[in-house]
Amino acid sequence: MTDHDSLVDRARRAARNSYSPYSGFRVGAALVTGDGSVFSGANVENAAYPVSNCAEATAVNTAAAAGARRVRTVAVACVDADSIANAYPCGRCRQVMNEFGVETVLVAIADGPYRVHDLSELLPYGFSGDFLRGGEEAPGGS
Ligand SMILES: [Zn+2]
Repeated sequence: MTDHDSLVDRARRAARNSYSPYSGFRVGAALVTGDGSVFSGANVENAAYPVSNCAEATAVNTAAAAGARRVRTVAVACVDADSIANAYPCGRCRQVMNEFGVETVLVAIADGPYRVHDLSELLPYGFSGDFLRGGEEAPGGS
């Protein structure tokens, strides 16, 4: 089992903790930080739909809140998706991952093969803290 395989497996397991009573669309995510720590997350819906949180954002923000400032790889597993084409991170999550310098994104459904992408493929020309004059240097900047 490769590191990618184990991260996808962990993302699939994290989907068990999804709180998705409205969509019934369970998503899990797992990531590896710059120092090798692993965090996971799941989507958390809300009756006020816009304040719901995606699994990838939950995992990245959990890592950041624990002190991580660099994330290398994120695996996302949409275990209720009927096709891997319907399992890709939303635009907001692509930006959240960009903030912490994610390099590799693994996209999976409940089983079968997963896809491996550079984040730059999924978010070309992503917004960076480098664009903010006088702001703190963002760890995900180039
Ligand atoms: Zn998202």
